[in-house]
Amino acid sequence: MRGAMLPPDLNEKSALFLDFDGVLVEIAARPDAVEVPAGLPAMLARLHGALNGAVALISGRHVADLQKFLPDLQAVMAGSHGAEIALGGEIQPAFRIDLNVAAIHAAAHDLAKDQHALLIEEKPHGVVMHYRADPGLEDFVRSAMSDLQARFPGTKLQPAKMAVELLPEGSGKDGALSRLMADPPFAGRVPVYAGDDLTDEPAMTEAIARGGVAIKIGEGDSVAQYRMSGPKQLALWLDSQFRG
Ligand SMILES: [Mg+2]
Repeated sequence: MRGAMLPPDLNEKSALFLDFDGVLVEIAARPDAVEVPAGLPAMLARLHGALNGAVALISGRHVADLQKFLPDLQAVMAGSHGAEIALGGEIQPAFRIDLNVAAIHAAAHDLAKDQHALLIEEKPHGVVMHYRADPGLEDFVRSAMSDLQARFPGTKLQPAKMAVELLPEGSGKDGALSRLMADPPFAGRVPVYAGDDLTDEPAMTEAIARGGVAIKIGEGDSVAQYRMSGPKQLALWLDSQFRG
């Protein structure tokens, strides 16, 4: 990793893909407590214009949640790790999903019922088992989620920070990037992807495979060619783009 170097400047052939938490906003103690920096909406709007619309947020959050934090942003929003997408504000499933999600939620609660430190987060297309309250439960969680995945074909597992998520096969931030790159305004451009979490690594790998650039935000191993210390450094760099 060329940690000390800044990424190449964006140009009119770039497509910009940005994770939200830990990338555009600092991680907060609770997901609903994040604060959108004052200059962020205007900066994203300026880049959206300069790139002819080729700007997408790619997040594990629901799209509706992203829209709450950035209500006026015209950029594409891919949420729930690519399972849903909003183009022009209207939220749609990104691809056909045929899962009994209520049964998945019930099975996850059942697996965790004797472990009171675990938190089960129900998602519209899957479930997350969090072990932040007791990191010693990592092995238990990995094993329980493997069992859950085996019981529900058409799903896959995604490790995250102090959590394991079960989500539809075909989802993931890499799937979202690939689907977006197939159509205008993204098609034919060079992807630039910034992310901070394990869930961003497959999308970074995909961006690099397409001749693009991956930027890891914060600490930790990464496939990315570039690294920035946190959302503030990324914002400074983004703000410096297309200034002539
Ligand atoms: Mg993140």
